[in-house]
Amino acid sequence: MNDKFLPFTLPDIGDEELVEIKEVLDSGWLTSGPKVRQFEMEFARSIGASYAVSVNSCTAALHLSLEAMGIESGDEVITTPYTFAASAEVIRYFDATPVFVDICPTDFNINPDLIDKSITKRTRAILPVHIGGLPASLTDIYRIAEHYGLAVVEDAAHAYPSKYRGNFIGQDLLGKSFRHSVCFSFYATKTLTTGEGGMIVTSDKPIADRCRMMSLHGISKGAWKRYTAQGSWYYEILAPGYKYNLSDIAAAIGLAQLRKSDAMWRRRTEIAQQYNNAFIKLPGLEIPQDRSDSLHSWHLYMLRLDLDLLRIDRQEFTEELKRRNIGSSVHFIPLHLHPYYRKVYNFSRESFPVASLEYEREISIPIYSQMTDADVQYVIDSVSEVINNFH
Ligand SMILES: *Cc1c(COP(=O)(O)O)cnc(C)c1O
Repeated sequence: MNDKFLPFTLPDIGDEELVEIKEVLDSGWLTSGPKVRQFEMEFARSIGASYAVSVNSCTAALHLSLEAMGIESGDEVITTPYTFAASAEVIRYFDATPVFVDICPTDFNINPDLIDKSITKRTRAILPVHIGGLPASLTDIYRIAEHYGLAVVEDAAHAYPSKYRGNFIGQDLLGKSFRHSVCFSFYATKTLTTGEGGMIVTSDKPIADRCRMMSLHGISKGAWKRYTAQGSWYYEILAPGYKYNLSDIAAAIGLAQLRKSDAMWRRRTEIAQQYNNAFIKLPGLEIPQDRSDSLHSWHLYMLRLDLDLLRIDRQEFTEELKRRNIGSSVHFIPLHLHPYYRKVYNFSRESFPVASLEYEREISIPIYSQMTDADVQYVIDSVSEVINNFH
């Protein structure tokens, strides 16, 4: 057995990040400035996005996007219960209603066939989440949105770099008229990190402009450089905005991360393939869905236990891995099972039966570029051993 604990996740940080950060510290400009602009440009270029607005979290990105779409009190926004807190709380910020639609049994993503019947005259937007890095069915979602005149805000916190039908998530593919935005997270555990951070990308310029203005107190364009030689002390407040801007220190980390993001993605893909090859043969285990129309970012490797074939449940499975010094996690506790949503919307386990069922048998195991070949083999051996002992 390994003496050293293998964490569930670790950021891929090296000297490249330190060099970038030092440049910022030496420059005397620590908050949003040249590094942020460069990070936005290089991020947009990496996925072929038209406009990119950096912010200090994906939660902020989702909030600003809904604000730019004009969401108001009493509006309804369709999303999935199978996600992290952020995806739905941002809807509540407006005193709007998150309307949950159950997931597909195959891939943990919102079931597009169930969206139509959840639409009412108060529906304003659809907020799909690309869970684990496997894209939701965007063709269906955008078709429905277009049909009913709804905005789309994609929660792409897991989806850098994922592809759907040949295009990167966030790539400009919709023409200029669609009201949409795609929100990425650079939280410490995500596939590209700035410690904390996020990005809004869109092909809709008015949406990008609104998000940028509202990310910095709703003050007029260019105010961020009011202390530079080209800047002026004068500014105007155009709306009561927020304080969501990304710092140059964070952007510096992001620039270093961007340069190695392809190598990091390749390594995760390699690990996923090794896991798939090993686990597909084991009874009582289902490997994650991968689709031929998509490219998986492999932010998460989401295994499913066939509880009928095993003598242990998910909790005991995580304990068995912990005993072998392997960290694991569960993605996600569906929102409708949390006290707040249960209480306010009267939800029960049966409200979204697929999400409830899949949650009980999901376990995420380590997948990150810092893992060595020995780490990967150790996880494979350990999972196989647990299955052999308990099936
Ligand atoms: C991490 C995460 C977010 C929030 O990202 P932050 O950058 O931490 O605000 C939103 N949605 C999902 C699905 C996430 O996993």
